[in-house]
Amino acid sequence: MPYNKDITLSSIYKEPGPKLDHENPFESMMERFRFAADILHLDEGMFQYLSNPAKQVIVSVPVMMDNGEIKVFEGYRVLHNDVLGPTKGGIRYAPDVHIDEVKALAAWMTWKCAVVNVPYGGAKGGIRCNPREMSPRELEQLTRRYTANLLDVLGPEKDIPAPDMNTNEQVMAWIMDTYSMHARSTQTAVVTGKPIILGGSKGRKEATGRGVVTVTLAGLNKLGIKANKATVAVQGFGNVGSISAKLMHEQGSKVIAISDISGAYYNENGIDIPAAMAYSQANKFSLEGFTGAEKITNEALLELECDVLIPAAKEDQISKKNADRIKAKIIAEGANGPITASADKILDDKGIMVIPDILANAGGVTVSYFEWVQDRQGYFWTEERVNRRLIRMMREAFENTFAVSEKHSVTLRQAAYIYAIDKVATTLRLRGIYA
Ligand code: NAD
Repeated sequence: MPYNKDITLSSIYKEPGPKLDHENPFESMMERFRFAADILHLDEGMFQYLSNPAKQVIVSVPVMMDNGEIKVFEGYRVLHNDVLGPTKGGIRYAPDVHIDEVKALAAWMTWKCAVVNVPYGGAKGGIRCNPREMSPRELEQLTRRYTANLLDVLGPEKDIPAPDMNTNEQVMAWIMDTYSMHARSTQTAVVTGKPIILGGSKGRKEATGRGVVTVTLAGLNKLGIKANKATVAVQGFGNVGSISAKLMHEQGSKVIAISDISGAYYNENGIDIPAAMAYSQANKFSLEGFTGAEKITNEALLELECDVLIPAAKEDQISKKNADRIKAKIIAEGANGPITASADKILDDKGIMVIPDILANAGGVTVSYFEWVQDRQGYFWTEERVNRRLIRMMREAFENTFAVSEKHSVTLRQAAYIYAIDKVATTLRLRGIYA
């Protein structure tokens, strides 16, 4: 079976996705939801409606393994809310995927889509499997059978998956093909995050970093700091971190520190980001051995004196253990959940502007929306048009959130939840409850 050589198995492993607090992911999301619900005086019925997923599907996915044995995997798809439109959210493959985690992330997608005004509800999916131990053929069978089991759930007008942890554009291509075979016509709009040749969008790879930088610039503007005078530290040098660092560098900001799993790299005069990107790419996506900066620890990077800190690696990086040592003026959450709920108040007391993940890293889902629009139109945009529209939507979302934070005297995180929940609740009231 020929496989696209550019989409290797190792690239499937590379992409992590959002992870919430593993001990109780649903509670972590609900804590922030409850606060917003209180401010909005949501009545008990509406609270119940928005707390519970609209649909939860669990499927058994049998796969004929390479050794001839049949193995049965458990797969999930949770549609949290479809009041604003078809549901949208990634599919993750991991040994520890759990329905509670999928439920929390589906709700999270509802709020994220609402904050940036893309006309989608939230969903999430997963298969409990260890992709590292599976061959490409087994992964393809797994993906196709999971898709076949969910044919009634998925659809360009119903539920539109995307890549997440351990799934990539090849997996999306398999889902699209399986769905299309049953529909008896090519249905590119059933998934996003596809290869460009199959109806993917230009600008998607850079979209999350571009969105992070757009809201960071808007935040700097509010604080009266010029981008070309700002100092920046970026944690994580993968897709989101490296693009964020590159675009801030292009704005004339001094990126004084970057990091990846190999450690952190600091240069008070500013790091040559294009050189660091070239180094990392030539070095199997690792900064290990990079000489344009002195090595410091990842913990020290977070605590540097700087204007902007962009955590773009993983969850739970700033907690009550280190929050009082953070000196940045703005933290833009490139990663999902890099700040724990317990650190929120400490950072707020210190006067730090936190641009929350559901706003800051929503550039990815925004360009996924553009991908779906282009697929449905059968007309593909230039990268320049994608970027221009992305920047416009991210700026608007920042301003909307900022206005809510001023109106209610709350943090940007609380404001983002208030904006999103209010939008979904208002739409639901207008639609009414079908009986
Ligand atoms: P990636 O795999 O491309 O990059 C992750 C980077 O973080 C790598 O450089 C890795 O070495 C580094 N890293 C891992 N552990 C680290 C640690 N302990 N300290 C410092 N660096 C560490 O992943 P990505 O796509 O850039 O995603 C990063 C984060 O952004 C994740 O939380 C993801 O959920 C979130 N996110 C990504 C997108 C997207 O479009 N890629 C969209 C929304 C949110």
